[in-house]
Amino acid sequence: MAETINDIVIAGAGQAGARAAEAMRARGFKGSITMIGEEPHLPYERPQLSKALLQSSDTPVAYIKPSRDWTQTLDVRIETGAAVIDCDADRRTVSTADGRSFAFDRLLLATGTRPRRLSVLEDAEIDVQYLRNVDDALGFRRHIEARSRIAIVGGGVIGLEAACAAAKGGCRVTVIESDERLLSRAFPALVSDLVATRHRNHGVTFVFGATVAGSAPGSVRLSNGATIAADLVLVGIGVAPSGDLAARLGLPCADGVAVDASGRTAVPDVFCAGDAALQWSRCHGRAIRVETWANAQNQAIAVAANMIGETREYSDPPWFWTDQYDLNIQVTGDMRDADHIARGDPTGGRFSIIALRGNELVGALSVNAAKDMAMLRRIIAAGATPLRADLESPRYDLRAALKPQ
Ligand code: NDP
Repeated sequence: MAETINDIVIAGAGQAGARAAEAMRARGFKGSITMIGEEPHLPYERPQLSKALLQSSDTPVAYIKPSRDWTQTLDVRIETGAAVIDCDADRRTVSTADGRSFAFDRLLLATGTRPRRLSVLEDAEIDVQYLRNVDDALGFRRHIEARSRIAIVGGGVIGLEAACAAAKGGCRVTVIESDERLLSRAFPALVSDLVATRHRNHGVTFVFGATVAGSAPGSVRLSNGATIAADLVLVGIGVAPSGDLAARLGLPCADGVAVDASGRTAVPDVFCAGDAALQWSRCHGRAIRVETWANAQNQAIAVAANMIGETREYSDPPWFWTDQYDLNIQVTGDMRDADHIARGDPTGGRFSIIALRGNELVGALSVNAAKDMAMLRRIIAAGATPLRADLESPRYDLRAALKPQ
């Protein structure tokens, strides 16, 4: 006899938690749903935090739904400002820092990630900011509006999108990146160089192969001995899974919480989705955490279906985009350790790069070529194997790769 599922608790009220709750109701789940989030805000979208929200004070926060939709239309109970700190898997309860307890038949861990902290700046003599939540973004925007001198540690997506917003806002910006080029895990060198040039054209300075070693009022000291004048340091050096709750359940979580294709963890009736989930990626050939908006949404929707008794596997290849100045760059799958084939003219500012491992198409990147990317995502998701010679031909229509042979 099928188990009755009355109560679902979602730990985490970000994109993954919210999309899961919505999906459960959309699929007809009638039991109780309680979503518990540490932040004082209703669930909101994060992409704008390092983009539009930094660039204009007219940009409203992109809440996923207004309060009344959650409570009245969807009948989802949302507890904001409440951190889930413990879970008893036998009794099927979670408890919050303020001493409350919530019973569940099924639990979703949608606790996401936290920014990695830079220990040398813990007692800094200069303002230090991280960029993860809406309050961080509004705080950083105030620095942009004040035309602060900004040192950014980390030339990843946070660092570069923040640098773009700050440079456009008239700030003096220095990006300090420990690697020798930008976003080396996701970008081929030619794209790293293109992005760096675009930033330099807007006045951004880069220091590669260095990090911050210390600070003083009005400056930061770098590991290479240089000193950078700055009023604020923004740190964007990656994120780590918020694993405290998983650890209370006995789940290893140094690299994320391992899940199968349905989102199940090793603890019965406990699922995980979003940034914290460690899931198999065919393109990478190993389990990875996928820190993207698309994964937080689509994996969560699939896992929600499984939590209410359906059977659905999730295996979408990772995909993210970044907007910097006039560049829209999208990446899917895995670009590393692969042969790269260019489509279009990289010098013309609109092109794609396809990553092949043997005959397998494992990744793609597009610069201002969203239509190509839409097709490449479908090809990679379908596991189609167009011939290398076809992909190398400028006349090859990508749509042919999806047609039955
Ligand atoms: P990323 O991992 O993208 O980039 C961090 C960068 O900092 C890397 O280039 C890393 O180099 C470098 N770095 C690490 N440690 C140091 C150090 N001590 N000194 C100098 N540089 C260092 O992380 P972000 O913080 O930029 O972004 C965090 C998350 O935010 C992303 O994973 C994503 O989930 C999300 N995000 C997504 C966006 C998008 O999709 N457009 C936009 C903004 C955020 P190395 O690689 O060599 O370690």
